[in-house]
Amino acid sequence: MRNAAIFKQLNPQQAAAVRATEGPMLIIAGAGSGKTRVLTCRVAYLLNQGVEPWRILAITFTNKAAREMRERVDSMSGINAEEVELRTFHSFCAQLLHKEAEYLRDYNKNFAIYETADQRNLIKHIVKDLGLDEKKYPPNAVLTMIDYAKNAMLSPEEFASLAQDDNNYYQFEITEIYAEYQKRLKKNNAMDFDDLLLVTVNLLTENEEVRRKYQERFRYILIDEYQDTNRVQYLLAKLMVGEDQNICVVGDADQSIYGWRGADIRNILDFEKDYPNAQIVKLEQNYRSTQNILDAANAVIVNNVERKPKNLWTNNEKGSLIYHYEADNALDEAYFVTEQIRLLSEKGYNPGDMAILYRANAQSRVLEEMLIKRGMPYVIVGGTQFYERKEIKDVLAYLKVLANPYDSLNLLRIINVPKRGIGETTLNKLDAYARKNDMHLFDVLTNPSAIPDISPGTVKKLDEFAELLFELIGDIGNLTIRALTDKILEKTGMLEELENSMDFQDMSRADNLKEFLSVAEDFAKSGEENTLSNFLEHIALVSDIDEAVINEDAVTLMTLHSAKSLEFKVVFMVGMEEGTFPVGSTVHNAAELEEERRLCYVGMTRAQELLYLCNARERLLYGRTQNYLPSKFLGEVPPKLIQELRKSTKVRTEVPDREVPKTDGYHRGRRKNEVITHVEPATPKIENVPDWARKVMTGFTPADGNATKDTFSVGDKVSHVKFGNGVVTNVNEQADCQELTIDFSGTEKVLLTKYAKVTKV
Ligand code: ATP
Ligand code: MG
Repeated sequence: MRNAAIFKQLNPQQAAAVRATEGPMLIIAGAGSGKTRVLTCRVAYLLNQGVEPWRILAITFTNKAAREMRERVDSMSGINAEEVELRTFHSFCAQLLHKEAEYLRDYNKNFAIYETADQRNLIKHIVKDLGLDEKKYPPNAVLTMIDYAKNAMLSPEEFASLAQDDNNYYQFEITEIYAEYQKRLKKNNAMDFDDLLLVTVNLLTENEEVRRKYQERFRYILIDEYQDTNRVQYLLAKLMVGEDQNICVVGDADQSIYGWRGADIRNILDFEKDYPNAQIVKLEQNYRSTQNILDAANAVIVNNVERKPKNLWTNNEKGSLIYHYEADNALDEAYFVTEQIRLLSEKGYNPGDMAILYRANAQSRVLEEMLIKRGMPYVIVGGTQFYERKEIKDVLAYLKVLANPYDSLNLLRIINVPKRGIGETTLNKLDAYARKNDMHLFDVLTNPSAIPDISPGTVKKLDEFAELLFELIGDIGNLTIRALTDKILEKTGMLEELENSMDFQDMSRADNLKEFLSVAEDFAKSGEENTLSNFLEHIALVSDIDEAVINEDAVTLMTLHSAKSLEFKVVFMVGMEEGTFPVGSTVHNAAELEEERRLCYVGMTRAQELLYLCNARERLLYGRTQNYLPSKFLGEVPPKLIQELRKSTKVRTEVPDREVPKTDGYHRGRRKNEVITHVEPATPKIENVPDWARKVMTGFTPADGNATKDTFSVGDKVSHVKFGNGVVTNVNEQADCQELTIDFSGTEKVLLTKYAKVTKV
């Protein structure tokens, strides 16, 4: 009976895909064809077939998607889906590592998770300590490269050996930063997001007992948005699959948009190789969009050369034409969009039905200001975030230090917060002393009189601070997290300091701290085990992983990247200009351009009923005004599908006065308790970095370095500059090179010939 409810909402192909629960399955289909729906129904169906919930692991791209899936499964199966492991890769790994911490070599179970802000902070410290020029090594650019290296599973040494050029100072320094970064993370008992995955993969690879345990536990593994998994995630999935090989992945190669972050389209292509008996399911009917929207999106994506043709159709009505508006400038564009939103609201659309999508976060500012001026509620995914605010980071730093006293980075942050008269010089002395003696900062703090040149007055202040920390550490476990946080705010005087301040901003900071207390309280109600480390894990994950909160009463603003897998009745795509979208760096790079086009396809296919494409002839971005030509993607939409709206010649510089409602400040559009916490990693800005670094950011080309030009077969004896002599045990042919598995006297390495310097001996 319950199964009837499931199959009622599926077409025959979808239903077949749901029923065939055993063995590997690859569902590969276009946008809006019901992939996510199939995955959700599969979980519900498995439960109805009597599979224990905890044997199912479903991986989604965002926490929000996981939550939604859980709700739907609940309602369809009538079985409590609470115990189904519905998670993102990161949250799954974080949980696994906490459970299996005893097997970890470099971390203990209190390990901290460093979010983007922590990472940046750490890089800044390192750049300073290594005596490097901070302007030449901006944290974001450095992190992009480190991120890339880690996703490609390259250690600092391997990374260094990749592009050997003795005169390349920049490369050398980046490698040094990377090595030091890893060292300090470990010293601080902290992992970044990449580490969560890498450490898990290493653990499962090296420890057969743990691997078996998970393979035996999870009998059914399902992964959504498989086209955007990177190599590490691919390996993780492979390691988790047990003997039954019940793995079902769904994806759409046309929506692969994270190549720049290491997502690897090979993962889809290799699936059939890894599981030769895999069932391949195609879904071809789109249920989301009107005929016109689908036709327009299809007309754009066919321009990609590197793709397999697809036949995606819909039964939906033709619908309106695609609206195009060419604005004079960004302000005019923003005015147009808000005006349409007003008109559509009058026609009965809810603000929550509408989304404005753009390529770069920086584009949101003009739109936000216009929405605020016109009193239109909106939520923004990304941008300034709750957890990025100074006062929130301060209180979080306290909690992190209490949970993991070895977290020197956060300890350093709070020693003088709020001000207790411990100056920069003292902090530097503490830090230097710890480093020199290879001690944890915390241990130094507990005996400050050992540090040379520290005045008795300062020693006293440090002693008091250490005492406070010990007292608070003693409270963990006795107090709820909310009470512990309360105590931190009270004992340190943080809240009081802000509340007594006459500064208007400090008052809103005090409000934010109070808001944080409700976050702690909400967590207690969430059903998760209410421990401090769980709480911190939860915050790290919600504040860093794509987390769109869609609000019924507000228009959603977000980047095209974060719109993936979502749908809206009305979509505005703004900034459709050459140089804005596609971004400027793609001019000479065909592969990057194709990725931008896929992003365009993703954006267009989010729309159910109405799609607006806008471009501005002139735009002020990153402090520079420039003229722009319309995006080539606009030109790829057949003119017969487009309805041109007014092309204005008048330059609008201001919103008419009557439009300005009573506003109470910049944050009007945001919900006060906004924990919208999406971090869109900045697309690497590659104009300003040296050639070598550029290559690392954009992927290597076969001509790079001294990579080998030989062709290898199994059994070949080879030599590698770093690993020495070895024997090829497996060869995987890739589009542009070979992937070799080589046994270097007992240690196995997987290397790509286009990067690795291996030669036959
Ligand atoms: P994307 O590629 O964007 O992630 P998708 O393939 O995952 O899309 P879904 O989000 O599962 O597609 O489905 C798109 C829309 O179509 C949803 O609103 C979904 O509820 C609806 N839908 C899917 N299958 C059917 C069906 N058989 N009958 C009616 N509606 C359907
Ligand atoms: Mg989907």
